[in-house]
Amino acid sequence: MNAVLDVVLGSRCALCGAPGPEVCGRCLMSLAPARSEPRLEGLPDLVALFDYDNGGRELVAALKYRGRTTVAGFAGARLATAVAQQLAWRPTVVTWAPTTADRRRQRGFDQADLLARATGRALGVPVRRCLVRHGRHHQTGRARAERQALGPRFTARAAWGQRLLVVDDVVTTGATLVSAHRALFAAGAAEVAVASVARVEGPPR
Ligand SMILES: [Zn+2]
Repeated sequence: MNAVLDVVLGSRCALCGAPGPEVCGRCLMSLAPARSEPRLEGLPDLVALFDYDNGGRELVAALKYRGRTTVAGFAGARLATAVAQQLAWRPTVVTWAPTTADRRRQRGFDQADLLARATGRALGVPVRRCLVRHGRHHQTGRARAERQALGPRFTARAAWGQRLLVVDDVVTTGATLVSAHRALFAAGAAEVAVASVARVEGPPR
């Protein structure tokens, strides 16, 4: 967008606050790209933009905790480009793994939903809510370690025969996204890939 127009409209960098685009040129330079290795088990098709420990954390925090929702547009456009370059197939539907109802209430939005909508818009692919997250009470019969390994439980709908792209803000161990991935395949998805704004490297935290 025109920088002068941004200043007139009061647009500021989500990271440093400088007047201008959603993320200014200097801050963009500080965002290290995510590494593609090691591959995460259960997520063969993973596209990630930024290294969480080298700038990605600040970008995600601006969206999640400071309500800088313009970050979704910035990240969505880049996710769309990365997906078009890195995936061997084109998605027919973009979706997201919903956060818990409590978190959505606290923040007033679900960052994964915003990111999915921005990515779908940029790709020119419809965005649909295909995943339903089930509450913690569904897992109380399981041991704590098992719950952590399995992640939250999802069921999927409207996935039959679709090539789905699941968009999220951060991927760490991938437990949440592996769960989402499995639910989509169980509901008849033809392909499933995951696209994430940031990826945590190193040991899971
Ligand atoms: Zn900046």
